[in-house]
Amino acid sequence: MSKTTVNLDDEIDRWRWACPRGHRGWEATNNHFWCAECASWADDAVDPEFDELHDRKTGRTVPREELRLLTRAGPYDTLREGSA
Ligand SMILES: [Zn+2]
Repeated sequence: MSKTTVNLDDEIDRWRWACPRGHRGWEATNNHFWCAECASWADDAVDPEFDELHDRKTGRTVPREELRLLTRAGPYDTLREGSA
């Protein structure tokens, strides 16, 4: 099955993709995503780490394994291969 590409350096993609709670302050980490806005909430029920992104265009929430993360330097997962 084909993956959905998310360009981490692309303004349009950054607007399209949000954390599961709808923020755009997320970053990709090795195996997860992390949201600065969730992290800043003083609420233990909010987990700033997650492994899916919300697609505001389709309304779907897409797990990381179905996403292909691109950066200016190349595909994110390729850059990280060997460190996982
Ligand atoms: Zn968030």
